[in-house]
Amino acid sequence: MIPGAAEYDVDLAIDPEDTERLLAVTPDDVGPAPELTFARNVFVPLTTACRYTCTYCTYYDVPGQASLLSPEEVRDVCRRGSDAGCTEALFTFGDDPDDRYTAVHDQLADWGHDSIHEYLREACEIALDEGLLPHSNPGDQTREQMAHVADLNASMGVMLETTADVQAHGGPRAKSPGQRLATIRTAGELGVPFTTGVLVGIGETWHDRAESLLAIRELHERYDHVQEVIVQPVATNERWRGETPGVETLRRVVAMARVALPEAVSVQVPPNLAPVREVLDCGVDDLGGVSPVTDDHINPDYAWPALRELEAIAEDAAVPLCERLPVYERFLDGSGANDRPWLSERVRAELDAPTAAGERYRAVLSD
Ligand code: SF4
Repeated sequence: MIPGAAEYDVDLAIDPEDTERLLAVTPDDVGPAPELTFARNVFVPLTTACRYTCTYCTYYDVPGQASLLSPEEVRDVCRRGSDAGCTEALFTFGDDPDDRYTAVHDQLADWGHDSIHEYLREACEIALDEGLLPHSNPGDQTREQMAHVADLNASMGVMLETTADVQAHGGPRAKSPGQRLATIRTAGELGVPFTTGVLVGIGETWHDRAESLLAIRELHERYDHVQEVIVQPVATNERWRGETPGVETLRRVVAMARVALPEAVSVQVPPNLAPVREVLDCGVDDLGGVSPVTDDHINPDYAWPALRELEAIAEDAAVPLCERLPVYERFLDGSGANDRPWLSERVRAELDAPTAAGERYRAVLSD
C-alpha cells in the first residue's frame, strides 16, 4: 500500500505484473522523439515559506526568513517576462505555510488575504493582465484550494516525486505520497491540465520508481489530464548530503517513463539539472521552461540554459525545437471530467484576445 493512500482515500490498482514489466524496460526499448518542445517562462517565487523540510531542497526558507513577493514585485517580473516574449508565469511555492510562518500570514492579512491561495488568485490576475498565462505549483492542494484558482491557470502542477516513504522527506512534517496522489486526482476531477513528475535519487528503490510512474499513469487514465511528466535527478546542493543518480540510472528511468505513459503525455527532462543530451534517445520530448529574465529559484545553483543551448541540443539531435504554451495543445479544445472545458472562459479569452499577448500566444500555436 502506498503510504498515505488510505488516509487520502486514493484507491489505485497497480498490477504487480505491470510493475515487473516496467522494471524490465531498458533504453534499448525506446527511441528518440521526432521533435523537442519548450516554453518561455518567468519564475515567480510567490513565497519561499514551506511547511516541509525536504533534505534535498534549497527552495524553502525557515520561518522568519521566508520571502513573500508583493503584488508590485509580481507585476514587475511578469511585465519583464511579457516584454521579453514569454508566455508563462510559473508560480513556485513551498507547500502551504503553516502557523510557524507568522510574518507571512501577517503580511497576507495586511494585503487583505487570509491564505496563500487567496493571494495566488490575485497574483494570477496580475500575470494575466500583464500578458502571461499562469502555471501554478502550490504543492499539495485540497479540492477547495485548487478550485479557488483553477480558472485563472492555463495548467497547474505538483511533483509526485515518489510513492515511497523516504528519509529525505523525513522529520515531523514529512510530506505524504498519498496526499500528492490525491492532489493529482483532484486536478483530474476539476479538469485541470496537469504537470507532475518523479524525483530520482532521494532514497527510492527501482520498484518505487516503477510504482510512481504507474500511479501517475493510472490517474491519467481516469481523467486524461496529465500533460507532462518530469524526470528530474536530485541535484547536489548545500542541503543535500546524499549522492546524485548517474547517467545510466537516469537513462533507465526516462525509458521507463516513456514506456509507462501514453504518447500524449510528454516526458520532460530539465537540461539545467540533467545531462539531457545523454538521455534524449530514451524518449525525452520536452525540455521544460527557459527564462530570459529570472533565475531558476527552485535550483538557483543551476542557471537555466540559454535558449541557444536548447537550440544546440535539438540541433545535435537533428530534430526541430518547437515552442509551446504552458498548456499543451491538445487541451485547447475539448473537456475533461464532467464535461468541464480544459480551459476556463477567462484563459480562453486571453488566448483569443486582440492584444499583443493574444497574438504572442497564437504565434506560438501556429509555429
Ligand atoms: S521540496 Fe517542496 S515540499 Fe519539500 S521543502 Fe522544498 S518546497 Fe517544501
